[in-house]
Amino acid sequence: MTLPWDVVIVGGGHNGLVAAAYLAGKGLRTLVCERRDVVGGAAVSEHPFGPQYTVTSLSYVVSLLPASIVRDLRLREHGFHVYPQGPYFAPRADGRYLRLPHDPAERREQIARFSARDADSYERYDAEMARLGAVLGPLLHQIPPRLGSRRPGDLLGQAMLLHHLRKVDTRLAVDLTRLISGSIADLLEEYFESDALRGVLSVSGVIGMWAGPRSPGTGYVTLHHHVGDAGGTPGAWGFPRGGMGAVSEALAAAARAAGARIRTRAPVARITTRAGRVTGVVLEDGEEIASGTVVSTVHPRITFLSMLDPGALPGDFVADIRRWRSRSGTVKINLALDRLPVFASHPGFDPQVHGGTIVLAESLDDIEGAFQDAAAGRASELPFADVCIPSVFDDSLAPPGRHVMSLFTQWVPHTWADAPDEAELGRYADRVIERMDVVAPGFAGSVLHRQVIGPHQMQREYGLIGGNIFHGELTMGQMFHARPAAGYADLRTPVGGLYQAGSSVHGGGGVTGIPGRNVVRQILADRRAARWRRARLTSRRAAA
Ligand SMILES: Cc1cc2nc3c(=O)[nH]c(=O)nc-3n(C[C@H](O)[C@H](O)[C@H](O)COP(=O)(O)OP(=O)(O)OC[C@H]3O[C@@H](n4cnc5c(N)ncnc54)[C@H](O)[C@@H]3O)c2cc1C
Repeated sequence: MTLPWDVVIVGGGHNGLVAAAYLAGKGLRTLVCERRDVVGGAAVSEHPFGPQYTVTSLSYVVSLLPASIVRDLRLREHGFHVYPQGPYFAPRADGRYLRLPHDPAERREQIARFSARDADSYERYDAEMARLGAVLGPLLHQIPPRLGSRRPGDLLGQAMLLHHLRKVDTRLAVDLTRLISGSIADLLEEYFESDALRGVLSVSGVIGMWAGPRSPGTGYVTLHHHVGDAGGTPGAWGFPRGGMGAVSEALAAAARAAGARIRTRAPVARITTRAGRVTGVVLEDGEEIASGTVVSTVHPRITFLSMLDPGALPGDFVADIRRWRSRSGTVKINLALDRLPVFASHPGFDPQVHGGTIVLAESLDDIEGAFQDAAAGRASELPFADVCIPSVFDDSLAPPGRHVMSLFTQWVPHTWADAPDEAELGRYADRVIERMDVVAPGFAGSVLHRQVIGPHQMQREYGLIGGNIFHGELTMGQMFHARPAAGYADLRTPVGGLYQAGSSVHGGGGVTGIPGRNVVRQILADRRAARWRRARLTSRRAAA
């Protein structure tokens, strides 16, 4: 019997769209079912303040989306454009600021205002991150083999992994182990002495993490943020024109152009199975959609504990999914402003400052303190924020003279995902705005509208269970072959024909598109193997 769809994809986030574009490009009849009325998931641009303003609701800066995906899917023809990220600017309450310009000589001069030793160390630090990132970056694209399995195909996968690691010598192996298992604080304290530099650099170790800079494993997160190549430059980041939603729109356009169908307002209630194989999906309104291959890109707890009957899955698999850690305590704040902030330390308009990345984090201890508050069950007294004002260089986002500001902030208690405290969340957002007001007096008075998205809204509205921004914490115990369950990091699942390709699998964690592309490789390989088995059976029958 011919089914209407070769593949149904659950979730129209960027990974679902990448998978759809590649699958349809290979001639497979592909349908995407997205629950919301807009595609993009956590990579979405919306209009909470009316049509005049566009905010990048959650994610805001791109790096990890490989240049090869941009090329393969011709995303530039579909409107994909990235403005290079400007330098870091960290204004301080004492009236000083730290800037990290891209030009090495200028950067050295800026850092030396805080510490001559740090100015000397910075290039070494940067080179070390590039050296270690060069090992890890290509690994991000691999489909992890089943470590420990003795089956011939899995042994081949393990051998290929060893082949990939052949360039890792003894020194590099130890340096990598120390970095990825250690804390960003250990690393930064080895290189730098000034609070200012330690503060700014530690942010990339704790983004999206339920962990402060002194927690083991935050070294890895820092490295994860150094392996992208926005626009083809290693380690570079950039702001997409139109916000991150424009990336998703370009992916959706590429998928449609290749022949995929994308349905929004199509929430999947169940994934159906028969005799251990997937048979399709059922939407919340009861509509049944048959397909022999289903790819789920939603959080693994939704896929395996809600859309399937956990009782029909292997017990140890279900136990892994239940214990999958998915906390963050992140709060995204989006603002509309009637003017640009005037920084006390740098009062004039400067495209490198206003169009760069503004960091409210004066020291590593500040950030650790913010985490310890949340770990103790209360919202941070002094939250840190990673801030950008994309309307400075992107005129599509706000009316002339007005601006939109995106503030990525941490932390509130992760338990607010299930038990929100709206009043406290509001007071937390007030404190973030006050913190900006201290370094840019009058800022609070420039806010026309504000949107505060805490863990509960991330979970309920965007499907980010536990409020974790990556569908799961990027900790050592949830890496590579352990992502998200033992024996299933190869994007397959215990159900035949059901695959996973959301942020929780290897290659995910950020707007990378890698799970979406890798799942297509896996599906095509499995289809080839099935065709080969069928052909062999037919020829045996003919011979008998
Ligand atoms: C506040 C915040 C800031 C971030 N900042 C950055 C950043 O600057 N740069 C970066 O690279 N990454 C960032 N990230 C992480 C990044 O956005 C995510 O890792 C990535 O977008 C996840 O993509 P995905 O396609 O795997 O999943 P999702 O984007 O979560 O997509 C899954 C989709 O499935 C849909 N869905 C859920 N349930 C159902 C159902 N029952 N039926 C049908 N559809 C369903 C959802 O609506 C969603 O559209 C950030 C995330 C957050 C939350």
